[in-house]
Amino acid sequence: LVHAVNVSKSFHGNEVLKGIDMDVATGEVVVLLGPSGSGKTTFLRCINQLETIDGGRIWVDGDLMGYDDRGGTLHRLTDKRIAAQRRDIGMCFQRFNLFPHKTVLENVVEAPVQVKGMKRKAAEARAMELLQQVGLGDKPSAYPAQLSGGQQQRVAIARALAMDPKLMLFDEPTSALDPELVGEVLKVMRDLATRGMTMIVVTHEMGFAREVADRVVFMDAGVVVEEGPPSEVIGNPKHHRTRAFLSRMR
Ligand code: ATP
Repeated sequence: LVHAVNVSKSFHGNEVLKGIDMDVATGEVVVLLGPSGSGKTTFLRCINQLETIDGGRIWVDGDLMGYDDRGGTLHRLTDKRIAAQRRDIGMCFQRFNLFPHKTVLENVVEAPVQVKGMKRKAAEARAMELLQQVGLGDKPSAYPAQLSGGQQQRVAIARALAMDPKLMLFDEPTSALDPELVGEVLKVMRDLATRGMTMIVVTHEMGFAREVADRVVFMDAGVVVEEGPPSEVIGNPKHHRTRAFLSRMR
């Protein structure tokens, strides 16, 4: 579903991604691990074109992201077409960024109605299903400020799912949460994985990586250092940089 080839990205001469190759199959859960500054967030942002890449190509479900390469030359797509590509990719951040003046239900209904032109009734019915799925079927009328961080993050996940994404990107979705709230969000993510959602997850939650990831990719300083099943990359890392990182995590 995701096919990234030789992706590079610099900020002011600082090369943050140095030729990343990554393939993610439909239904696969990939956990991205790596020290702070290794480029994990930047890579996720490149996938959905929140950053323009300097080199390489990224395809999502056969679509070349950000460009049109028909006729052999690359043309940057219009913002409108990039927004359309992005619609199929759900993203959840560390900060949930819910609309504070909208209820939980309105938060989830907003994009399908405004962006996809879905009928409000249908969007609300779907939103209620999704709120049930994330364990918040009793909270449609609550405002974000009335919810815990874990509940807000679950609303953010429901909101992303309301667009029916092909792919979900998670960027440290639990790292802003109090420790006792982490489990409820990971549980929702685990359920999503079980339902067959294709997911790329940046997280420091090793238990989640071990139990849910089909594959773990360890990045350091803008390159993929090591990848494989969690039993290998976490259980028996080959590279000294992976070992050093994991020993700091324990
Ligand atoms: P963390 O776990 O801390 O989020 P990360 O692996 O996700 O780390 P990135 O956030 O991708 O790493 O950052 C990689 C490098 O790129 C860092 O040195 C960061 O300062 C730099 N960087 C990221 N975004 C920008 C930007 N918009 N402008 C300039 N530098 C940036």
